[in-house]
Amino acid sequence: MAKTRTIYQIIESQATMEGAGVRLRRAFGRDHPKLDPFLLLDDFGSDNPDDYMSGFPWHPHRGIETITYVLHGKVKHEDSLGNAGVIGEGDVQWMTAGSGIIHQEMPEKTEGLMLGFQLWANLPSSNKMMHPRYQEVKQSDIPEVQISDKIGVKIICGEIDGTKGPVQDIVTEPEYLDITLQPNTIFKHTIRENHNSFAYIIEGEGFFDEKRKKKVGKHHLVVLEDGDEIQISTAESNIRLLLISGKPIREPVAWSGPIVMNTREELRLAFEEYRNGSFTKHD
Ligand code: FE
Repeated sequence: MAKTRTIYQIIESQATMEGAGVRLRRAFGRDHPKLDPFLLLDDFGSDNPDDYMSGFPWHPHRGIETITYVLHGKVKHEDSLGNAGVIGEGDVQWMTAGSGIIHQEMPEKTEGLMLGFQLWANLPSSNKMMHPRYQEVKQSDIPEVQISDKIGVKIICGEIDGTKGPVQDIVTEPEYLDITLQPNTIFKHTIRENHNSFAYIIEGEGFFDEKRKKKVGKHHLVVLEDGDEIQISTAESNIRLLLISGKPIREPVAWSGPIVMNTREELRLAFEEYRNGSFTKHD
């Protein structure tokens, strides 16, 4: 029998300042057993360019993956590997920083409106020092499965009804879905038991438990209890949300800014290497 997930916690994302002065909303940004392997989710939605134009100038990452999904606007990026490009509307950049990259992420003005998300996923100790890797996915490469005329799912990573998302071979076996439900709809979806999962509401509102006790709306994070299935449903309004899950790593976390390792000593070494110019291992 299916064990439907219940709600562990609902959290409203909080206004915060990051990078060189970017105003964004943080859904979470901490190490928590119910969110493991995920560490952070930022929502950079704004219709005021002053909120985001200062961007995220040159900074290092090590030991994690950063996943950027842009819905409106553009983010220009450049890195220490010599990559440069633009993450455009509907595109995803799944960056595995591994042993280290130094990059910058600079939003570009597009008729004012910017909407996007950055998720951080931790790497297990065995992969923290892996060679950096990118999976750059264009909007046109992200399949959208129309489960019914009321349920559409864009698959960034994972599989639904035999359709696979373009991002593959990620060590924490994540699933990353962008789901739209029309009013008065029920969507049931299998999520592997023992994987942690959460939803973040982009627009509209809906229910995340079978009993439909509490309606959850825009700018809210729903952290789910364990189970092998989720039921999301709507009443009179539609909903668009991200549904993300992954295999917990369950290792000690030593975290400072953009670098996440297992021990204080590994953190200290990373910042020392950044200062003395030996941070990146890829050249
Ligand atoms: Fe970054």
